[in-house]
Amino acid sequence: MTTEPAPTTAPAPRFSGGGEISFAERPVPRPGPGQLLLAVGANAICGTDRKQYLEGSEVTPGHEAAGVVAAAGEGASIAEGTAGVVYLMDYCGSCRSCRGGFTNQCLAKRADMGFTHDGGYGPYELVHETNFFPIASAIPLWQAPLLLDVMGTSGHAIGRALLVRPEIESVLITGAGPVGLGLLAAARLTFSEGTRILVTDVTPYRLALVERLGGIPIDASKQRIAEALRRNDLDEVDACFDSTGRGAVRQEALDCLGRRGVLVCVGHGEQLVLDVSMDLIAPERAVLGSEYFRFDELPANLELLHAQRDYLGQIITHRFPVSQIDQAFRVFFSGESGKVIVEQ
Ligand SMILES: [Zn+2]
Ligand SMILES: [Zn+2]
Repeated sequence: MTTEPAPTTAPAPRFSGGGEISFAERPVPRPGPGQLLLAVGANAICGTDRKQYLEGSEVTPGHEAAGVVAAAGEGASIAEGTAGVVYLMDYCGSCRSCRGGFTNQCLAKRADMGFTHDGGYGPYELVHETNFFPIASAIPLWQAPLLLDVMGTSGHAIGRALLVRPEIESVLITGAGPVGLGLLAAARLTFSEGTRILVTDVTPYRLALVERLGGIPIDASKQRIAEALRRNDLDEVDACFDSTGRGAVRQEALDCLGRRGVLVCVGHGEQLVLDVSMDLIAPERAVLGSEYFRFDELPANLELLHAQRDYLGQIITHRFPVSQIDQAFRVFFSGESGKVIVEQ
């Protein structure tokens, strides 16, 4: 595959705050040693984009990008024309965390793509080849971002739970945004057939998606979680995954956890108050955090995406060209969507 030579400047979305997105000409960088210039194909909208959407951003946002190598810098081993996805953290590769494979806990990362450096809503993105993951061309670029926050973050969170609770037979997921839906899909594909997976949300659109993906939807605006569990003949669950980041929701989830249960907090946000004796020691429960995922989890997720493309593909509900990025954000933040993709 050959790509056009990149221009020296190109128009990119500019987030000026208050939900305003305009287009401004930005320089297109040249890749230095070990770097790749990507022609972006698609970038998925994430709940985390809300801050830049509302408060503005110096850089072009977008941290769930898929693209094709337009130019490779000196010494780079990945060839022009290679398709792949961008791992958010430009990890150093040599600190203690990275040496152990914990690239999501890098102690000296060079960038958070889309936050400290230009990300994937623009037509070009400059990355190090170490945080670019090549994919097979059978996965279209608009679907490839599923490998990132949806499959990566949720698969990692399930792995965290399995560290302390190897047999999980019932699951509660709070929040059915893209990460919550990813958790549901990952739970379905990881745990045995009979595992019951309850998922809370307040929007009918997302609750319908939960049902389509094989989860048991709970309308949290109409009932307490404990009550919904009882209606499903459950007194408690083995594992909870919170993607809402809301303190009250986490507290409610913790109360639904059985003995040896594990609560994994995936969504950033508010606090959780623990009565250490009653909540943790006596029932031997665990509360864990889970942040993004390790770079070395990508190959297994790519294999899974190949095998389950139709199932996982349902999580993407909307695609917009970048010229309609405004509308894409409005749809996403209305709650009437799953994952929304912005395409170049
Ligand atoms: Zn994200
Ligand atoms: Zn590192």
